[in-house]
Order: sequence, then C-alpha cells, then structure tokens
Amino acid sequence: MTADLRNAKSFLFYQTEHPRPVLDRAEGIYMWDQDGNRFIDGSSGAMVCNIGHSNPHVLDAMRRQMEKSTFGYRLHFVTEASESLAAKMCEHAWPGMDRVFFVSGGSEAVESAMKLARQHAVATGQGSRWKVISRWPSYHGCTLGALAVTGYDALTDPFTPMMQVMPKVPAPTAWLDGLDPDDPATGAHYAAMLEAKIIEEGPETVLAFLVEPVGGASTGALVPPKGYMEAVREICTRHGVLLIHDEVMSGGGRLGTLYGGRNWNAAPDIMAVSKGFGAGYVPLGAIVARGDLVEAVLAKGGFLHGFTYAGNPLACAAGLAVIEEIERQGMMQNSLSTGALLKAELVKLMDRFPFIGDVRGMGMLLAFEIVADRKTRAPLAPTVKAFDRIVEAAYRRGLIVYSRRSRGGYSGDHILVAPPMITTPAQVGEIMERLTGALAEFAAETGLGGA
Ligand code: PMP
Repeated sequence: MTADLRNAKSFLFYQTEHPRPVLDRAEGIYMWDQDGNRFIDGSSGAMVCNIGHSNPHVLDAMRRQMEKSTFGYRLHFVTEASESLAAKMCEHAWPGMDRVFFVSGGSEAVESAMKLARQHAVATGQGSRWKVISRWPSYHGCTLGALAVTGYDALTDPFTPMMQVMPKVPAPTAWLDGLDPDDPATGAHYAAMLEAKIIEEGPETVLAFLVEPVGGASTGALVPPKGYMEAVREICTRHGVLLIHDEVMSGGGRLGTLYGGRNWNAAPDIMAVSKGFGAGYVPLGAIVARGDLVEAVLAKGGFLHGFTYAGNPLACAAGLAVIEEIERQGMMQNSLSTGALLKAELVKLMDRFPFIGDVRGMGMLLAFEIVADRKTRAPLAPTVKAFDRIVEAAYRRGLIVYSRRSRGGYSGDHILVAPPMITTPAQVGEIMERLTGALAEFAAETGLGGA
C-alpha cells in the first residue's frame, strides 16, 4: 500500500513527487511497508534512529516508565528519569559543562541555547551583546529564532520580515572553494572571517557564535578543516563571545563521541542536542551548558524560558536507555570502524561515476556530492533533479537515503549516507549494492557516465 501524499490529510515539509509507502514496522536497520517490502534505513530517518529500531532495552525502559508515570510537570516534580539522564549526559560532556536543560527537539534546543546565552549576558552586565553569528550555509531549525541563524535562502526567504536576521560567515567549505582541508592555513582562513565579522559588527554587540562541529543537512557532512575549531574557540574567548555547538545532528555518537565536537580540543560553552538522544523513540532535546553560566542566570531570578513537555519522564527514561545501549553495545566504536569501511566504499564509487565530486564526513555521518564537473566542482542544473532521482532510484531498490540541495539550497546536490550505528560490515555491502544500482540508473538516464 502506498500513500498518495497529494491527497493525505496531514501535510509535509515539501511535496514529494512520488507516493511514499505506508510504514508498518521497523527493526534494527530495516523498515517494512504494509505490503511487506523491506527498506534499509540508510540515513537513520534524518540522522535520528542512531541505535536502530525496536531496541528491546529501550522499549522495556519506556514500558517500565509508562507504568510508573508519563508526565510530571517540571515546576511540580523532579523525576529520577530526568536526573539520571542529565547526569549521564554530563558524564560525556567537557569538564565544567555540568548543567542540562531539557526540551523536545532540535529547534527548541537551538532557541534555548541562544536564550541562555542572552540571559547570561544580561545577568553579567553585558546587555549590549545580542547578535548570534552563524554560518552560511547552515540549518539550525525552523522556529523563527532558529531560522534567524539559519543560512538557507530557500527556507528563510518568506520569513525574513518577521525575523531579526543574524550575521553570517561562510562555512569552511574547503573542497568547494578549492582549498586543502588538511592545510592549517585553510582553517585559519575561515576562522579569520569570523574575527573580521565580530569586529565589523562591534564585539560589544556579539553574543555568540553558533556552529555545527560536522555540518549536516545544509553542507552534507562537512568536516571542519584543520585548526578551524581551535581557532574559532580562541577568537570567541578573546572577544568575550560564547561558543555554541549545534550538536543536533553531529551528537548522539555517530562521530565516535557522544558529542561530535569532542573530536577537537576546543570546548564550547553551550551545546544543543536532540535527534540521536531520543533516537526516534521519543521527541527529546536538551542544552548542556557550563555550570557557571547557568548559576549566573539562576542567581538573577532564573531562566525565563521553558516548554511544557520538557523533561517529561517518559522521554528521559527512553533517552537514558538509548545512551546505555550505545555504551553497552560499543556503538560509538562501531561508528568509527564500520563508518571507515562505508566511507572507503563510497570513495570507490568515484572511480566509476564521474559525477561524484566529493566524498566526505567521518564516523557514520557521511555524504557524497553530485556535480556536473569534478574539476571545477560546478553543480548540476536544478532541472536535472539529481537528488530527487537518486533518492527515488534507491527507494525502488529498498534503500532510503536523505538528500538535500546543498550550498545554501541554491545549487549542488548531496546525499547523506548515515545508517544506524549498529550497521555491520555485511550490511554495508547491502547498502552499497543498492546505492550503486541507483547511481547506475541515474547515470544511464542522464548520460553523465558510469552506467
Ligand atoms: N540543528 C541541526 C544541525 C539540525 O540538523 C536540525 C534538524 N535537521 C535542527 C537543528 C532542528 O531540529 P528539529 O527538526 O528537531 O527541530
């Protein structure tokens, strides 16, 4: 059975050209529709279902919590579930980042991080600081505050009159700009643009810099060039600017660490997390912050912010069980080892398909970019609909992958390959067989080579 979404009562972010199957059940890295067709969840939904579907330990923890209580309003009760999860999240964070504020999703987490930063500035006599510099392109969420720091014209344009649009600096897209990501000069080059922007805006007006450690939806698994993360930390410190890591996609273990940014020696002041922490079992998000920032805000009357469902015991019990499973099954290690295998297989595709311009990412957050010309990195015309066609061809072969127009949504296509962290080497084989078939079909239809 397929659902023709043109006639569906619920509606989507964008209109898919083809009907979507009706989901029946899911287990591990597989999902089945109501006709019994099996799909590989090749991008873990949208990098959400990191530990795979139907994990018995998580379901059991949820069942046990549901039988005890599903909701206790945060101003009325503290719960064991939320306290245990907060403690577990702090165990993995940088020393000193020891306070957690719960929300229910990624946009909420980004909003909360920015509002905590702002309240901290007000509480510490720095009320002139309010600008949050972010990067272009970037995606930080769809609520108006998170959208104001999002660098993605196609998503932001209609709403600009309603927002206080924030300053942007270029994302460190070394490959696209023809620079060597392993040359420390490249990292310094992009970091210098942040410093120039802070000075241009007036450092006394700049509150924070918001950055994804490894870029997700907008830039397609963009790994920062050498030295970049350390340099932006140093620049922020020097100008009294808080550093916020958006770990909504890079967090959760895919990069071999629960917070992806821990791969660099540059601690942020606040982190926003979501997706992989609820792992598709529950809507869950949080900010993890430096304790002294939180103390300063609490001392001045409290954090003027909060969502009704925040910290509910069901979501927190599931979130705790998710991290326990990640630890128990060694999923972060698997992300690194099986991720390296998957990346090597993706790189091999470049030998056959000349339209693959770049393969990037780390751990289990990988992507490849489709181009018209590998040398000039020129994108294919949007009319080719490269990502739509490749996604559909993969669907027909039982592989679901997540894809976007990259480079700010105006040109370029990338496909994210980010299966659950439990994926085995044999399953990498299954993914690659389907993906290769889909790319060969695209090649044959377009005459772009490699059919
Ligand atoms: N930040 C990043 C980096 C994201 O990838 C996303 C979601 N794709 C968000 C924020 C927003 O999260 P949500 O959709 O849960 O609101």
